[in-house]
Amino acid sequence: MILAADFGGTTIKLGFVRDGGVCARARLDACADHPMSERLEAVAGAWETLLKEKGFTLQDCSGAALALPFLTDPKLQRVLGEFEKFPGAPEIDFAAWGKERLGLPVVLENDLRMALLGEWAAGAARGKNDVVMLALGTGIGCAALSDGRLFRGANNRAATLFGHSTLAWDGAAGRCGNIGCAEDLASTATLPQRAKARRDFAGSALEGAKKIDFETLFAFANRGDACSRSLLGECLKVWAVVVQNAVLAYDPEVVVLGGGVLRSRDIVLPAIEQHLHRRMAGLPLQIPVVGASLGDDAALIGCEVLFKQTHPARLS
Ligand SMILES: [Zn+2]
Repeated sequence: MILAADFGGTTIKLGFVRDGGVCARARLDACADHPMSERLEAVAGAWETLLKEKGFTLQDCSGAALALPFLTDPKLQRVLGEFEKFPGAPEIDFAAWGKERLGLPVVLENDLRMALLGEWAAGAARGKNDVVMLALGTGIGCAALSDGRLFRGANNRAATLFGHSTLAWDGAAGRCGNIGCAEDLASTATLPQRAKARRDFAGSALEGAKKIDFETLFAFANRGDACSRSLLGECLKVWAVVVQNAVLAYDPEVVVLGGGVLRSRDIVLPAIEQHLHRRMAGLPLQIPVVGASLGDDAALIGCEVLFKQTHPARLS
């Protein structure tokens, strides 16, 4: 049995996982502006409460795993870089924390990579060993699996930053400093700004919206608002090109899509599949594009997968 926690922007999902299933769950407010050391202690306390409720102790666990909204260095067991979330995270020695606080070995990895491992073991990518997963919504996240292992690269960054690829080579510098960055062309962070810059914004349904997010955009487009339809069409094209580029880079058997935008999967999935089929007609690349199926459990289940891959001797 593994202790697992998934640090999201608004909620920390945690629980314990055994044989590919989440045995018990709890949630904490993320409080992502609070120090990581404080949130780790909150997670450890919540694990202990949950274990007690179910009649277990820390001694019944083989280890702990953390899915984090960061790039990580798995060898040093550290987080790379500050991203305005969970301040102080890069200073923490997670291996030492696990040993001192829990008496257990700890593994950590980027949250989308953990979700991909979960979808591979028990969800939408089951039975496929070459998989790309993209999360569309607040940003554009990416993770790739090659022959059943995470595709890591020289600095453990492979695929993770794919959403920051340049799509518009003559575009403006965006939030990350890159020019024409895919994430800046179709994500929640920039959507209001992109809507307001349009000529057809004045008088559109979006102009009267309290909040411009993808939920609003899909709803207004569905009702026939021309500005919303056009902006949504642009976003669908950006996502389709990102998926296409990921297919070219990683040669997957299946593409799994997650993220908030997948609430409108009936629109998103066919649009992307059609783009792949139309634009790559000369190549035998009929890659299925499917929605993630495990929801909040994906990263928790992935925690167990990564722990087993990292410490095979600790689990029979
Ligand atoms: Zn970027």
